[in-house]
Amino acid sequence: MNMDRASVVIVGGGVVGCAIARALASRWNDVFLLEAQNKLALGASSRNSGVIHAGLYYPPGSLKARHCVRGNRLTYEFAAAHGVPHRNTGKLVVASGPEETPQLEELMKNASANGVEGLRMLDRAELRRREPHIEGFQALESPSTGIIASEELVKAYARIAADRGGHILTSARVSGLEPGPDAVRVISAAGEIEARCVVNSAGLFADEVAAMIGSKMARHRIYPVRGDYCEIASAKREWVRGLVYPLPHADGLSLGVHLTRTIWGSVLVGPTARYVEDKNDYERGREPVEEFARKTRLLLPGIEASDLAPAHSGIRAKLTPRPGSSATQASPGGIADFIIQSDPEFPRVIHLLGIESPGLTSAAAIAEQVSELVALALG
Ligand SMILES: Cc1cc2nc3c(=O)[nH]c(=O)nc-3n(C[C@H](O)[C@H](O)[C@H](O)COP(=O)(O)OP(=O)(O)OC[C@H]3O[C@@H](n4cnc5c(N)ncnc54)[C@H](O)[C@@H]3O)c2cc1C
Repeated sequence: MNMDRASVVIVGGGVVGCAIARALASRWNDVFLLEAQNKLALGASSRNSGVIHAGLYYPPGSLKARHCVRGNRLTYEFAAAHGVPHRNTGKLVVASGPEETPQLEELMKNASANGVEGLRMLDRAELRRREPHIEGFQALESPSTGIIASEELVKAYARIAADRGGHILTSARVSGLEPGPDAVRVISAAGEIEARCVVNSAGLFADEVAAMIGSKMARHRIYPVRGDYCEIASAKREWVRGLVYPLPHADGLSLGVHLTRTIWGSVLVGPTARYVEDKNDYERGREPVEEFARKTRLLLPGIEASDLAPAHSGIRAKLTPRPGSSATQASPGGIADFIIQSDPEFPRVIHLLGIESPGLTSAAAIAEQVSELVALALG
């Protein structure tokens, strides 16, 4: 194996890096993926809701909307072809009372503008037939939403990348990027590589990787926003049949605490949304289970704290600072778009910043865009 020259080095072995490796390995020789941890997918890519989103929420024309809608289809096709456990469950977004109807209709309009198909409004009777224990006035049904075993998806992308000749290296933290005239020197725990092109897909740490090369793109700081989950640990888990969401929070921080029946039959409650200081802080200051129970009861009356058990946490890679903080940001406001572009000063380097939800769903579509950017960089 030629360790010191590569056509492309991808930094980060989450779902996005691995989907990119799969796409690039079919076009170029000597594609390397360097992952800091000793296993792939230990970051957000295995610490999420595992939902194949439809594309309801994102502003029409945004990368999030485009990649989510296309990624939805690509993900189902890939999962079916490669034996990744998944199910097309559909999902319900529930309005609690008539005062929420305009918001639900607005969501339906937005989703239609994004090209989401098969949307339907359900009245209370139909909602109760579908989800007998859910409290609500009306619901928007999104039939193309589904669930997937996210870690298995990452492994499948990586396996195919390797089958196509890509080199997937773990325990290979990148600590330096030095630009030269024809290549970038990538310094990593697995050795040094001269790369004609570098893809920065380091998730929460992509701003720090951008800073390694002295890029102005590093001004797009990534703010860690943690989401904690609980699981319904009692027989009441049978009260939830599929995916049930409230209307999204107006602050754009999260989709609201929702109910997700996973591929394994467990029911997740969450995630919460809370800015944290440390990108590795998965534990400190979790919301009490009582608070989860209170939020859950808005959708599922009768749930008590004793029905819930704490489950995993994940950290979102947000481009928007904590509201009211003094930090300045290029794209203030609730929903910031994905940033996927070649570095204006170092065109051999492609950055992916702010790849929060729907990043799992979008990975295969993002990989198509990155493949075109790499083709331009390599000439
Ligand atoms: C709570 C939560 C729920 C979510 N739910 C959903 C959902 O239901 N559906 C959906 O579509 N999306 C969801 N998302 C979003 C989705 O999980 C992410 O967008 C996606 O996993 C991002 O993938 P990634 O590869 O960019 O990042 P990551 O998975 O974080 O991977 C980045 C990798 O880069 C590595 N790395 C960092 N620095 C370096 C370095 N210097 N050198 C080498 N490697 C490095 C890290 O170790 C890590 O493995 C959710 C996210 C969260 C946090």
